Amino acid sequence: MQAFEEFEAKRIPHAVLKSYMDDAVKVALKDQEAAGIDIVSDGEQRRFSFLVVIAEKLHGFELMNVIELARGRREVLSMIDRMMLPKTVPQPIVTRKIRRDRPIAVDELAFAKQHTQKAIKVALPSPYMLAWQAWDYQHTKKAYPSPEELADDLVRVLRREIIALRDAGASFIQLDDPTIQNPLNPEKYMKFLSALLGRRPKSMKEELNWAVELINDTVKGIGNVTVGLHVCRGNWPAPEEILPKGAYGPILPWLLEVKVNQLVLEFATPRAGPVDVFKDYPTEKQLGLGVIDVKNKEVETPKIVVSRVKRALRYFDEHQIYLNPDCGFASGRTWPVADREIAFRKLRAMTEAARVVRAEFA
Ligand SMILES: [Zn+2]
Repeated sequence: MQAFEEFEAKRIPHAVLKSYMDDAVKVALKDQEAAGIDIVSDGEQRRFSFLVVIAEKLHGFELMNVIELARGRREVLSMIDRMMLPKTVPQPIVTRKIRRDRPIAVDELAFAKQHTQKAIKVALPSPYMLAWQAWDYQHTKKAYPSPEELADDLVRVLRREIIALRDAGASFIQLDDPTIQNPLNPEKYMKFLSALLGRRPKSMKEELNWAVELINDTVKGIGNVTVGLHVCRGNWPAPEEILPKGAYGPILPWLLEVKVNQLVLEFATPRAGPVDVFKDYPTEKQLGLGVIDVKNKEVETPKIVVSRVKRALRYFDEHQIYLNPDCGFASGRTWPVADREIAFRKLRAMTEAARVVRAEFA
């Protein structure tokens, strides 16, 4: 983080920043290996956030601060305050036709592959989330008159990236989409995005149908790699009662229509509701089972994690279940929700629980 500050203040050249980023990725990989993780990621150490990586790599985006985008509107500024959103949050806003002149994450994957023998997961922002977050009435209209027209191009570039990542040896490609739960709470985050970016949501059903269509157009027919969809409620360092919440039940029929191998869902945070929503929706899909509450500083015991797995085993076969933390330990560079030491101990508790459960099924 200090290296990024130094670089932004023009005190170090990019080559020096890059050497720090390389070191940070190696540390993230080795920490995951030491914790016993089977499928590792590069920790997304090079990205400002899970969302804006797209603007860092693709032509056609500009990063704009949420305060700047509020354009002095008191109503929007007070929403930002009420949600306790970090003031440093940038939005990846489309200002010109988007183009994938270079890959988004293939370079990240190539570096990680040089430093670990483990299977690697790479996450990308979902097309539905970007169609919401990146279209602004003032800045995007000229390039794309409607969010739907932007979405078509997003699907095209993301699909090409997924295929490139598969061909470069990624084991698991995950689309991140906290936005897909917004239609359930139209008065909360969706109201904020609509006000901030000057657009109107469709009905809940139309929104969810559109989300499924975009994700399916992005991933359809891509074989020989595991593709997942991660849906959480968003994790920034605000008190639990401020952050979005709600069980998966109402959106589950749509999530099950998404043509991915794995749904990567949070179930450790009480905000997510119970895994029992699957009682009414048996599925052949894999479940990326969130067993670690990333925002709670108290480290779970392996016993608690095992009990969370046992609950999911009522509705899933053991081979369908993959243990995960609920979300990243930092969805953005400047707002980590857990420090490195706590994250490491939580991952250890998770792999110890996996060992216990595997022994029971061996
Ligand atoms: Zn998440």
